[in-house]
Amino acid sequence: MSVPTDVVVVGAGLAGLVAARELVAAGVEAVVLEARERVGGRTLTLPAADGTPIDHGAQWIGPTQDRIAALAASVGVTTYATWDRGLHTEFRNGRALRVDGRLPAGDPGTAAAMGLAIRELDAMAAAVPLEAPWTAERALPWDSQTAESWLQGRVADEGARAWLRTALRSTLAAEAGELSLLHTLFIIRSAGGFAQLIETAGGAQERRFHQGAQSISIRLAEALGERVVLGAPVRAVRHDQTGVVVEADGHTVAARRAILAVPPALAGRVAYRPPLPGWRSQLTQRVPMGSVVKVHALYEEPFWRHDGLSGLAVGDHGPVEVVYDNSPDSGTPGVLVGFVEGQDARAWGRLSPGERRTAVLECLVRYFGEPAGRPRELLERSWAEEEYSGGCFAGYFPPGVWTSYGRALREPVGPLHWAGTETATVWNSYMDGAVRSGERAAAEVLAALGS
Ligand SMILES: Cc1cc2nc3c(=O)[nH]c(=O)nc-3n(C[C@H](O)[C@H](O)[C@H](O)COP(=O)(O)OP(=O)(O)OC[C@H]3O[C@@H](n4cnc5c(N)ncnc54)[C@H](O)[C@@H]3O)c2cc1C
Repeated sequence: MSVPTDVVVVGAGLAGLVAARELVAAGVEAVVLEARERVGGRTLTLPAADGTPIDHGAQWIGPTQDRIAALAASVGVTTYATWDRGLHTEFRNGRALRVDGRLPAGDPGTAAAMGLAIRELDAMAAAVPLEAPWTAERALPWDSQTAESWLQGRVADEGARAWLRTALRSTLAAEAGELSLLHTLFIIRSAGGFAQLIETAGGAQERRFHQGAQSISIRLAEALGERVVLGAPVRAVRHDQTGVVVEADGHTVAARRAILAVPPALAGRVAYRPPLPGWRSQLTQRVPMGSVVKVHALYEEPFWRHDGLSGLAVGDHGPVEVVYDNSPDSGTPGVLVGFVEGQDARAWGRLSPGERRTAVLECLVRYFGEPAGRPRELLERSWAEEEYSGGCFAGYFPPGVWTSYGRALREPVGPLHWAGTETATVWNSYMDGAVRSGERAAAEVLAALGS
């Protein structure tokens, strides 16, 4: 038997929950079908052994991420500044250099070359229209090459190339050789500039949530009550001009419109009757998810702070290339968070638990000395293993996809609308983009329903 409603939303991540909240606020009923037994999607906050909330998924929020900031404030979730005081660590060629100020600093030639490259990327990014990247004057040449081929052609300094590869990996969880240059420029523009992507103070890593990022979705879902159905993976969507019937395990929902608030790759796993037009179906075959493993090491206290270190480390030797101080606002326990991304994340899945532990601790000891090798707890989460994420931080566009399929990203198909951070124009791939996409999809549906 199918339950009737106005709008069925697929996915209870930030995008889907925000869309449902907007619809309900406008007097339109909604049912949210969520595959997992929890809400929040790519946000996941679990207590460590001592109860400290650990964000295994998204965690940071920064300036201009106004929609996630407003949403968090509206549900009483508060923020604090990421710990950023002390000397940063630059690990190159077997040596840990302590740096007061901006990285990289070890080689002035490399720092200068990197500055020039970033200025050039920012200038090119400014020419990418956020609503339609494929209409940029140089869209075709930019979408016909990878970020790696651009680096090889334009950045002579080997050290600068290595840094930029690390920066892209830690932003998009993919290798520079996998990313369309046009997509790379779109992401830079969508964030407001390269610095906004990589900086802590003034950038995307500036603040964290006291209660953990997932608490925003949990509070949204509480307010939506029985409208949110967990453990209901959507398998099939039947649609025509009069409406949709969405079939999930154990649930069938009939509605006038549907919002699919899942990444394109996961939207492509659903069976559509009639099948979707080729331009939409093929888009979903071409936007793979990034590869990332997030690791947390917990200590009695943040011992690196006593050594005058900030806890931020960037190294040339994986698998953990980037580390931040992730201690709670109180400063206890001491927590380091590290990221394994791109090719290293793929290799990760083939290592034994013992090999993975050794690999992480070797990196942390390289950056912070022997005490880093003795955490009281070591936690890891590999997002490629998550059936209903398929990878993280987000779906990315390889060469040729924006120019061939870009228009299909948000274009509704009959009563079917698309949301999720991958569809955002501002802060695409981030929580803020997810919120904006949910708001946009709800507005689209309300307009279509004449509400
Ligand atoms: C390790 C990691 C670190 C990150 N760090 C940051 C950060 O610091 N700051 C930041 O802003 N962003 C960060 N991100 C990205 C951020 O998490 C995402 O941009 C955002 O959460 C995406 O929200 P969404 O609603 O678009 O998608 P999702 O959160 O993926 O929500 C989609 C939902 O749909 C469900 N679903 C999938 N398929 C089906 C189906 N067939 N039927 C029913 N339900 C289905 C999923 O279970 C999920 O709940 C990070 C992500 C990861 C994984």
